[in-house]
Amino acid sequence: MTSNWSPSSWREKPIAQDVVYEDQQDLEKQIDRLRAQLADVAQGKAFLLQGGDCAELFSACSQDPIEHKLSLILLMSLIILHGSRLPVIRIARIAGQYAKPRSKPTEVVDYPLDGEAGQQGKTEKREVMSFRGDNVNGFEVTDRRADPERLLSAYFHSSATLNYIRALLSSGFADLNAPRQWSFSHVRSPSLQKAFEEVIDSLMDSLDFMRVAAGGAGAGKNEGSVARGGTETVDFYTSHEGLSLEYEEALTRAVQPLSAGNGFSSLARPARPSGASSSSRANSTVRGSSQLREEKLEQQQQQPQQKYYNLSSHFIWIGDRTRQLDGAHVEYFRGIQNPIGIKVGPTMKGDELVKMLDSTSDIERTVVVNPDNIPGKVTLISRYGADKVEKFLPAHIEAVKNSRHVVVWQCDAMHGNTKSSETDPSLKTRHFVDIISEISSSMKIHKELGTILGGVHLELTGEINEDGFSVTECIGGSMDLMDKDLSLNYLSHCDPRLNYEQSLDVAFLISDYLRA
Ligand code: PEP
Ligand code: MN
Repeated sequence: MTSNWSPSSWREKPIAQDVVYEDQQDLEKQIDRLRAQLADVAQGKAFLLQGGDCAELFSACSQDPIEHKLSLILLMSLIILHGSRLPVIRIARIAGQYAKPRSKPTEVVDYPLDGEAGQQGKTEKREVMSFRGDNVNGFEVTDRRADPERLLSAYFHSSATLNYIRALLSSGFADLNAPRQWSFSHVRSPSLQKAFEEVIDSLMDSLDFMRVAAGGAGAGKNEGSVARGGTETVDFYTSHEGLSLEYEEALTRAVQPLSAGNGFSSLARPARPSGASSSSRANSTVRGSSQLREEKLEQQQQQPQQKYYNLSSHFIWIGDRTRQLDGAHVEYFRGIQNPIGIKVGPTMKGDELVKMLDSTSDIERTVVVNPDNIPGKVTLISRYGADKVEKFLPAHIEAVKNSRHVVVWQCDAMHGNTKSSETDPSLKTRHFVDIISEISSSMKIHKELGTILGGVHLELTGEINEDGFSVTECIGGSMDLMDKDLSLNYLSHCDPRLNYEQSLDVAFLISDYLRA
């Protein structure tokens, strides 16, 4: 019998002729940089703007949808930067936001009948799996079976999207000297147009001033697509909910510090957290757990620590439905170097929140996500709803304040504010006033308690139809969309998103709050 062998036991040996992928190293550097920038956000030295679709579709992996998303977030960031005078960290829900948690696993739909009856448009009521996002099943009711092939497709679409974003950024798309190219022209509201023109004029003035002060036109040139400091392009990061752990694991890479002293080397192989090896699992039945813990500690002290990066995205978050302390998602998230988000809703207990970050007890230390209190590592994404924020946020802030933890506080003003449309109860909607109210209450509460609201998390889209009209999924804003307008251009396959104009409205309001 071949002892101590498993198909993956080769991973525990030194490897010759391993390939180090440059792209991979690039991504690791960007991930580390984002973490450092989020540490600034935690201290109020920068503002975090995160937004995008609720459910990104594979079909959105093409020029127009990507450009619309990028340009909207860029415009919003300019508006916020203008008012707050703070650097804005931009993270899109893009290039991997393909998996959705649902409140109900199944739903009853009108299912087309077989044969001729189906061709005549006849349907029957049938219970099918809910749409779980493009990397699980399809939106069409006839395509709801979970299909593992979709995971490969998710990888393809996410890489292609990421590559296109990189190409756009390096070709000058995000040049702060030319913000008018970010397709603002279709916005019909004269007051929004005027407000934006004022921001641009004032920004151009400042840029001119900087160029003169720096001594001429070429000054401040950037090095690459995600370089910071200059004005020709800006940082732009990607994110998604880390829901499908099979997908996340497959894209997790170990980076081993070489004791020989030539820095970090990327190993193109899946993560294998120390202690999870087949041999240690087998032994655990024989040896006591305290002995095991001691041995593990000893091993860790002897070996240089291997680091794991999730290279599917810069930032991933744990959803409100999957954040159980003893659950699989927290277990996965605790081992990666990426900055991570944790959704915090009304059902989160204060002590649970602190336990998730850190714990003083040795046993509990094994489940926490930030035992070393690394600045910028954890973003708490609060999402209670406009009518609940006053009730829940203060206690959560106090709980974290009483721990030694420094976190980024971010307000998701969408997920606690979902309602059914009055005219068509099958449509979900959100009211602009609720969204603004949750953001402003959060800012006020943080200020009163001496903490900082570092950013916002929004579901939004720059998508427009062939006639240049924005989507109609949320109610209110400067366009004054009403409940009865929702069906005009409702395109979301999941939650309702702020449209182009409503997103800019939110940006102006945040900009005003931060100026105050
Ligand atoms: C989401 O961000 O799309 C989402 C499902 O959020 P939550 O986990 O907060 O419900
Ligand atoms: Mn959503």
